Amino acid sequence: MPTAHCQLLTAKRIVIKIGSSLLTDEAAGRVREAWLAALAEDVHQLTSQGKQVIVVTSGAIALGRLQLGMKNKPALLEEKQAAAACGQIELFSAWRNALSQQNLKAAQLLLTADDSIERRRYLNARNTIDTLLDLGAIPVINENDTVATAEIRFGDNDRLAARVAQMAGADLLILFSDIDGLYSADPAQNPDAKFIAEVSEITPDIERMAGGSASNIGSGGMVTKIAAAKIALSAGCHMIIARGNIDHPLRALQNGGTFTRFIAQESPLSARKRWIAGSIHPAGSVTIDDGAATALKSGKSLLPAGVTAIDGTFDRGDAVLIRDMQGNVLGKGLIAYGAADAARIKGKKSRDIEQILGFKRRDVLIHRDDMVLE
Ligand code: GLU
Repeated sequence: MPTAHCQLLTAKRIVIKIGSSLLTDEAAGRVREAWLAALAEDVHQLTSQGKQVIVVTSGAIALGRLQLGMKNKPALLEEKQAAAACGQIELFSAWRNALSQQNLKAAQLLLTADDSIERRRYLNARNTIDTLLDLGAIPVINENDTVATAEIRFGDNDRLAARVAQMAGADLLILFSDIDGLYSADPAQNPDAKFIAEVSEITPDIERMAGGSASNIGSGGMVTKIAAAKIALSAGCHMIIARGNIDHPLRALQNGGTFTRFIAQESPLSARKRWIAGSIHPAGSVTIDDGAATALKSGKSLLPAGVTAIDGTFDRGDAVLIRDMQGNVLGKGLIAYGAADAARIKGKKSRDIEQILGFKRRDVLIHRDDMVLE
């Protein structure tokens, strides 16, 4: 069984979630700059080891509130949204400054829960994150609080971070907290509370343990962290809950220490393929020639050149069946072009896509990572 320490060493794509209570001095309405500078150093250390890092950060409401002269914590959704609109500027600029000190570029993404649930937007956000990481930038993500229609709750970013990890195919999610991990009961109230070092399945017992323990005001306590763990583990992503309210929290984690690790039982890619195979209803089909069928079976992506027919009405990102010339179903995949565009480029060379459509997304019609064969 790999240790958390070892997971951090082997992980290639890591999502790090930072809560408001770690990042901000809420009473003063300010970012804890020295703490953030140390964290940015840690991030740099990871990227210089060839790892890709995505940050999910809260703090917009905490930072915006005082600027707008709100004395008390905002209670109404509109007030939280107003505070977030103001504070997000502060929040991102603090990240940008801290990362640029390390010669890292920061890119701001504001996502809504729908971006990770609705398939088409999911593909878009995923491709943008991939592109940013390939270009060496650090995506710095928060919820798009100003357009949220549901109540914004502290702790929502735990779940958002797990959705981001799922969307980005990350292999490790680290939730920094003001407590070093999961306990069998709230350690502040129960001296017999036992530390849980490792979890490989979210059982009702684990959920019950989390239910009783809420850490301090700024964070979502354990309930949202366990909800995040469920999402992460089902996406094949390991998760760690660790103490963040120390200097260099990532370095501390790399050097050992106390934390709870949640072990995923499969890889992000196999989890993604299981999701495609199981839960998505196909909206149409593509028929492919024998050459393409052979290429697919040897692990290649589907190019437009190998497609002979397009059936059904579907949009980019929808699932379609892949059929051979006899009509047998060979598999299923998420298609990178909508039905009308796919029909125009079928049988054509990928290099001609731009000329035919006037734009180009990908060379492939269905990427091999987005495909499951029967
Ligand atoms: N998105 C909110 C903010 O940046 C906080 C959500 C959370 O703390 O989980 O203020």
